[in-house]
Amino acid sequence: MVERLYITYNDVHKLCQQAAEHILAEFKPHLMIAIGGGGYVPARILRSFLKKPGSPNIPIQAIGLSLYEQLNEADPEEIPGTKVTRTQWLDFSAVKQSDLVGKNILIVDEVDDTRTTLQYAVQELAKDVKEAAKRMGREEEETKFYIFVLHNKDKPKKGVLPKNIISGQQYYAAKTTGDVWCCYPWEATDIDEHDRLAAENKQKLADASSH
Ligand code: 5GP
Repeated sequence: MVERLYITYNDVHKLCQQAAEHILAEFKPHLMIAIGGGGYVPARILRSFLKKPGSPNIPIQAIGLSLYEQLNEADPEEIPGTKVTRTQWLDFSAVKQSDLVGKNILIVDEVDDTRTTLQYAVQELAKDVKEAAKRMGREEEETKFYIFVLHNKDKPKKGVLPKNIISGQQYYAAKTTGDVWCCYPWEATDIDEHDRLAAENKQKLADASSH
C-alpha cells in the first residue's frame, strides 16, 4: 500500500508562511492563479503572507483542471495516456488582458505528482498571454510564471516545464516527499481522526530520527 502523509491545516499554514518569504525574495507576483481544487486554500493563505503593508492584496484567479487516464481500447496493453481537461478557466470578463501581459504570475497548486497538470497549466496560460500580447501590440513584454506547490514528489515526471521555470528557479515546493499519497485536511471527512493520524506520522518521524 502507498504510504500516506497526513497534513494538517496548521502544517499548510506554516508551509505557506515559510514559502512566502522565499517567493518574495525571488519574485514579485502581480497575480495568483490557483489550480482547483487543491490550490485554492494554499493560494488564499499565501496571499496573506505576500501582502505588503499599504499595498493592495494580490488578486487570485482560479482555474479548474482534471486529470483523466485515457485507455486505448484498440490496444488495451498500451500504457494509458493522460489527458488534462479544463473544468474552469480564466474569466476574461474579470481578468483584463493587461493583467496578464508583462506581469509576474504565480501559479499555485497543492502537489506536483506526475507534473502533467502543471505542464498543461503553464502551456495553456502562456498561449493566452501570447494572444493577449498580440492583440494589444505588446509582444515584446515578458510575462513570467512562477510555480508554488506545497509538496513535490521526488519521482520521474511525465510533464515537462519550460527550462526558465526550473533552471531559473521560478519553482518552489515547500516540501519534497517520496512517492507517498498526501492527505490534505480539506479532503478529510473526519478532521479529528485526520489530525490524530498526522500527529502519529510526526511521532514516527521523530522516533526514527532519534534512533
Ligand atoms: P499531477 O500528476 O498532474 O502532477 O497531479 C494531478 C493532480 O492529482 C493534483 O493536482 C492533485 O489534485 C492530484 N494528486 C496527485 N497526487 C496527489 C496526492 O498525493 N494527494 C492528493 N490529495 N492529490 C494528489
